[in-house]
Amino acid sequence: MNARMEEIMNAIEHNKLTADDPFRFHCTQCGKCCINREDILLTPLDLFRIANELKLSLKEFIDQYCELYIGPDSHFPIIRLKPRGSIKRCPLLKNRRCSVHKAKPAMCAMFPIGRVIAFPEDGTSSNAPVIEYFYPKLPINYTHNLV
Ligand code: SF4
Repeated sequence: MNARMEEIMNAIEHNKLTADDPFRFHCTQCGKCCINREDILLTPLDLFRIANELKLSLKEFIDQYCELYIGPDSHFPIIRLKPRGSIKRCPLLKNRRCSVHKAKPAMCAMFPIGRVIAFPEDGTSSNAPVIEYFYPKLPINYTHNLV
């Protein structure tokens, strides 16, 4: 496991949330969570909803706003929003506001809560994957690919 993956795994492990855990978050609409981002990964539903919101075809939306690659660790095909400029601004951030607010990607709608699929290795279960949530108390450096 490389250093970046270790940082991510530690952040997840030490900041897990269960359904009963309280947390505090207040959005000030500063737009800072939309810069220095290279990790806005899109699901097929995100693609469809955002393309529809922008009145573009899927191909037009992907050509104009996205980047496709194979995840170096996961080896999954990935589509992400392609950041712009030296501050790595999300291409959908306009005038410090999300231009697709009603259709924003699931990971943006959940921010700052993170979600992962975990594969328990405790020997007591069937090792079936489970969905876990976490709330990083310390800011994670969002300038790297997460998958
Ligand atoms: S899609 Fe919207 S909320 Fe998500 S990073 Fe881009 S501008 Fe911000």
